[in-house]
Amino acid sequence: MVRAKILFGTLVSWASHGLSASVDSSFSAADTIQRDVVVVGGGSSGTHAAIRLRDAGKTVVVVEKQAQLGGHVKTFTASSGVRVNYGPSNFQNNTAVVDWFSRFNIPLVQYQQPGVGDKYAEFSTGKELANGTLPSPDFGAYLQVLAKFPYLEDFSQLPDPIPEDLLLPFGQFVEKYNLQSVAFTIAQFATSNGNIFEQPALYILKVADAPYIQATISGGALAPATYDAQSVFLKAQEYLGSDALVSSTVSSATRSNTSVSVVVNTPNGKKLIKAKKLLVTMPPTTSNLKPLGLDSRESGIFSKFQNKAFYTVLLNQTGLAEGFRYYNAKAAAGSTYHVPSLPVLQFIWATKDVDTYWAWYSAASELPDATVKANIIKDFKTLAPGSDPQIVVFSNAGPSGLGVSADEIRNGFYKNLLALQGYRNTWYTGYAWVSDHSAGLWNHTDAELVPRMLQ
Ligand SMILES: Cc1cc2nc3c(=O)[nH]c(=O)nc-3n(C[C@H](O)[C@H](O)[C@H](O)COP(=O)(O)OP(=O)(O)OC[C@H]3O[C@@H](n4cnc5c(N)ncnc54)[C@H](O)[C@@H]3O)c2cc1C
Repeated sequence: MVRAKILFGTLVSWASHGLSASVDSSFSAADTIQRDVVVVGGGSSGTHAAIRLRDAGKTVVVVEKQAQLGGHVKTFTASSGVRVNYGPSNFQNNTAVVDWFSRFNIPLVQYQQPGVGDKYAEFSTGKELANGTLPSPDFGAYLQVLAKFPYLEDFSQLPDPIPEDLLLPFGQFVEKYNLQSVAFTIAQFATSNGNIFEQPALYILKVADAPYIQATISGGALAPATYDAQSVFLKAQEYLGSDALVSSTVSSATRSNTSVSVVVNTPNGKKLIKAKKLLVTMPPTTSNLKPLGLDSRESGIFSKFQNKAFYTVLLNQTGLAEGFRYYNAKAAAGSTYHVPSLPVLQFIWATKDVDTYWAWYSAASELPDATVKANIIKDFKTLAPGSDPQIVVFSNAGPSGLGVSADEIRNGFYKNLLALQGYRNTWYTGYAWVSDHSAGLWNHTDAELVPRMLQ
């Protein structure tokens, strides 16, 4: 009852702002879309938030650059007919995850990583490491350290100031807290973050956060029963119908304290969206945000972000041992705990399709696609001499690892960033704002973002 009253009050307050019935004179009524909220970026966080806002009685429209919703969530149909994920595939077990899949009647099962075993080899030589070269990870000790910093599961809860230990380069953090045994494995989890040992520990612990580690070591993550992670986004896109403007980008915008107007390039020409609020979920790089018309306060903050590069690729005809996962590890520990230097093909996973392997390639900054492809093929051929590996899908999963220097964090970067929520009727979510995990993002949307946007 209380909840119903709050919702009714919210609807009245939104309605009372009332959008003007007149539209920008250069757009016909047919090319003008009036909604409560325009969501820019229809990936994991944007699609979920749009549905949640619609479920709360708001009208929405989603503007997504790619031809389909889901963002990093991508699934390829192999020639066997098996659907192979080459993006997010499993989700920590929380209420938001269960609610999201049940919203579209998609049954969930406990996730099991495809494959029969792991091999550790120097990909540059093809030589496998002797058993026992890598230490056994002690994640119990690691979780005890994480317990000191519970806000890492949702960056919107970051304290001010942020503890100095979190600003140490991750390599020093490992030394300080005696986490050497988990360093190699965490490098695999945090693969899209450049040289993890140089990054402020804050970012690496955010990827390898407690819910993620607990789900990974206990096998408690969830996946659709079909293992087709894209299925929920296909259903969401169907449900949104013409409210999902795919293959579309923003060309310009005006934002005030009462409303926003966004001009969008769509396959059907330019459209004008007049909305009360804007929710930005695409990665907040200055090139993505420029069409939104940043003011000096906003550009002063967003221009500090730097990103890394990351590629995810499916191959067949590999000649690799059937069903195995391969990790690129140096025989000598060195200063990086057996982790090879960038750019690097970090690991290769067997998939649900016996012929298809999934390669994860990481770089400090963007490389030409041809260079990435050539480096990947070279390593596959070294691992399986005489093979003729073929790339069947290539995806640039960047910009990844958006972050700032330790000094910027020390100088209040996150305090300033988080204070932008709601400024000029613009709201934000996505991996750079909240969590690297969809479960964390969806939980934040349900618990924080949507209730605040509804106020
Ligand atoms: C290979 C890979 C595997 C992963 N595996 C998992 C996993 O198993 N579980 C998990 O929880 N997380 C996983 N992640 C992390 C995952 O990225 C996040 O969970 C989640 O996708 C982040 O959501 P997001 O909304 O911030 O970004 P995205 O889902 O990438 O959404 C951002 C959207 O904005 C769009 N966009 C970008 N620029 C523009 C523009 N100019 N205009 C309009 N739209 C734009 C993009 O096309 C995209 O759809 C994985 C990531 C990768 C790359």
